[in-house]
Amino acid sequence: MAEAWIEVNLDAVAANYREAVKLLQQGSRCLAVVKADGYGLGAVEVARVLEESGCEAFAVTTVEEGLVLREHGIKGIILVLGPSTRPDWPAALGSGLQLSISDLARVSELDELAGGMGIQAEIQLKLETGMGRTGFIPSELEELAGLLLQARNLSVTGVYTHFARAGQRDHKYTQNQYALFVEGVSRLASAGIQPRWKHVCNSAAFLDFPDWHLDFVRLGTLLIGHLPGAGFAGRLPLQDPWAAKCRVLAVRRVAKGTYVGYQSIYRTQKETQLAVIPVGYADGFGVEPRLIPQGWFDLLKIVIKNVALMFGLVLGQEKILLRGRTVRIAGKIGMQLTVLDVGLGECRFGDEVLISLRRASANPRILRLYRREGRIFAERRLKEGFSRVDQEYPNSLKEAEARMRG
Ligand SMILES: *Cc1c(COP(=O)(O)O)cnc(C)c1O
Repeated sequence: MAEAWIEVNLDAVAANYREAVKLLQQGSRCLAVVKADGYGLGAVEVARVLEESGCEAFAVTTVEEGLVLREHGIKGIILVLGPSTRPDWPAALGSGLQLSISDLARVSELDELAGGMGIQAEIQLKLETGMGRTGFIPSELEELAGLLLQARNLSVTGVYTHFARAGQRDHKYTQNQYALFVEGVSRLASAGIQPRWKHVCNSAAFLDFPDWHLDFVRLGTLLIGHLPGAGFAGRLPLQDPWAAKCRVLAVRRVAKGTYVGYQSIYRTQKETQLAVIPVGYADGFGVEPRLIPQGWFDLLKIVIKNVALMFGLVLGQEKILLRGRTVRIAGKIGMQLTVLDVGLGECRFGDEVLISLRRASANPRILRLYRREGRIFAERRLKEGFSRVDQEYPNSLKEAEARMRG
């Protein structure tokens, strides 16, 4: 009996893809972002169903993620968005991944390596326009073009940038980023570099700026069934592919006034039943990203949430459902166990509980069950194993570093 599992409905992912491509401008294509293990759903499974649905291009953050897709038969374009280093390049080029280049020093290094392998490496250029993360800044573009013109073994398939505030109502910052991108592309063109594809949109910009769909739009959030923010409600019908479930592993009737959990922050208000479920913050349960207030009203909401916590009340959480009833978390969430106050209604050992679990934070070791065309057809279970990394410990930190650099 599985004690905790996640059901992923791949039909919903395919349906979200079909809805999204309906909004594509002519000539543009979807580059499906399946980073972070497909936002927790499973990168391979999500990419497969998208490829079956006609998607021709995928993006991940790391080379390793890209290799996993190739090893599992994904044939489309695979773009690695994050910066990569030399030890990862031979495998990446051997598998036909397209690497993002965002650093002048990497250009000739990669050119030389590709030459040594006797191949043309396909690369995409990342421009920095306001995200403050990776990419070429405007003053580097002439030198970049010079290096690329000399490179014999690099073929530039694309140029792109990433928006920092695309989901915001105020579009000024994003428009400025776009203007910087257009300017960067034209500077590259006058210096003799004209990449085949251009792309700028993530999910939010895809919805808000149809004129900027260009050759590709990079969609992640929408495909896994989320809107990029509250302001996008009703913009397109999305289906939620995700359901996290677990079973009641213990249930006990307790008297009014019983303390529950660490620090005893929760005390039962009347006679009730306490049910224990096998999930906790090590599974990503109850783990929320740090809330940064976007204004005074937001700050007030965060303060109220925290005051409520002092009294053992967890506010703003999505519902926890047991036999169709909403139940609440009692006390602090533990590392791998959580207690629910389920009242006096029926509750038995083994009962199914629907919990809310943030996709990208859900522990990958939780069993995933995949649904397609109405039936569960596959499961994925990760086991921890040990593998020998090296014959012996390196003698010094310097030596270890040298090995890492390859
Ligand atoms: C994650 C990511 C995306 C996808 O963003 P969503 O908002 O999830 O659609 C697109 N581009 C880059 C560079 C990303 O890192």
